[in-house]
Amino acid sequence: GAIVFKDVHFAYDPQRPILKGVSFEVPAGKTVAVVGPSGAGKSTISRLLYRFYDIQQGSITIDGQDVRDVTQKSLRSAIGMVPQDTVLFNDTIAYNIRYGRPSATDAEITQAADVAQIGHFITDLPDGFQTKVGERGLKLSGGEKQRVAIARTVLKAPPILILDEATSALDTTTEQEIQAALDIVSKNRTTLVIAHRLSTVVDADEIIVLKGGEIAERGTHAALLDMG
Ligand code: ADP
Ligand code: ADP
Repeated sequence: GAIVFKDVHFAYDPQRPILKGVSFEVPAGKTVAVVGPSGAGKSTISRLLYRFYDIQQGSITIDGQDVRDVTQKSLRSAIGMVPQDTVLFNDTIAYNIRYGRPSATDAEITQAADVAQIGHFITDLPDGFQTKVGERGLKLSGGEKQRVAIARTVLKAPPILILDEATSALDTTTEQEIQAALDIVSKNRTTLVIAHRLSTVVDADEIIVLKGGEIAERGTHAALLDMG
């Protein structure tokens, strides 16, 4: 569904406003990226959408419904989140992918793992569904952990996706691979991307540049480059 931030104000500490009237829309099925320097309030935007915190003024709606009127549970089932660093449970890859969806079948887990290109972890191991992360042969790199998060999202198939610096902890080559996987997952899904560099959000339908708690610039990647 469409996400609308309207005149959103937020402060963790009343003396120090973080967002000072932020308005933007992510049309259904489109991708909007929020970029800006560290500390600009980008992650705060994703936390407000997820309702970790409530805003103090303005509104955030999903498909016209104020997020304050939606239960935390239904909000979390509508939104998939790929964070900067995925923390895994000390359990199997399958457990980590299935987490939150206990009724998912092994076939569905394998399929989600395949989309995220970690299917080999499950299929190549003699007891693929039992081998735990951390045991012999299953030390995961940062990119692989992000693929687990992506597989979890594929399985969940949420209408809304938040990618919060999902590739920023990775080296350039891995970043490109993970970005390609994320592009597949975010296709036709309402997606909010949080990034600190413009170069990683070339394909976004709109880019919002956040500075000092306000939107400093907005436009496509090409338009923003033209502005210099
Ligand atoms: P960004 O994602 O753009 O780096 P954040 O949204 O994480 O910025 O943080 C914006 C500002 O809010 C920063 O100055 C940060 O220190 C502050 N901040 C973030 N989280 C909290 C919190 N839980 N309590 C108090 N201040 C916070
Ligand atoms: P869903 O898959 O339904 O989107 P999340 O993955 O967002 O659910 O997880 C729901 C809650 O569980 C969140 O608070 C998240 O921080 C926590 N969580 C998810 N995966 C892990 C994990 N591997 N280790 C620790 N906590 C996790």
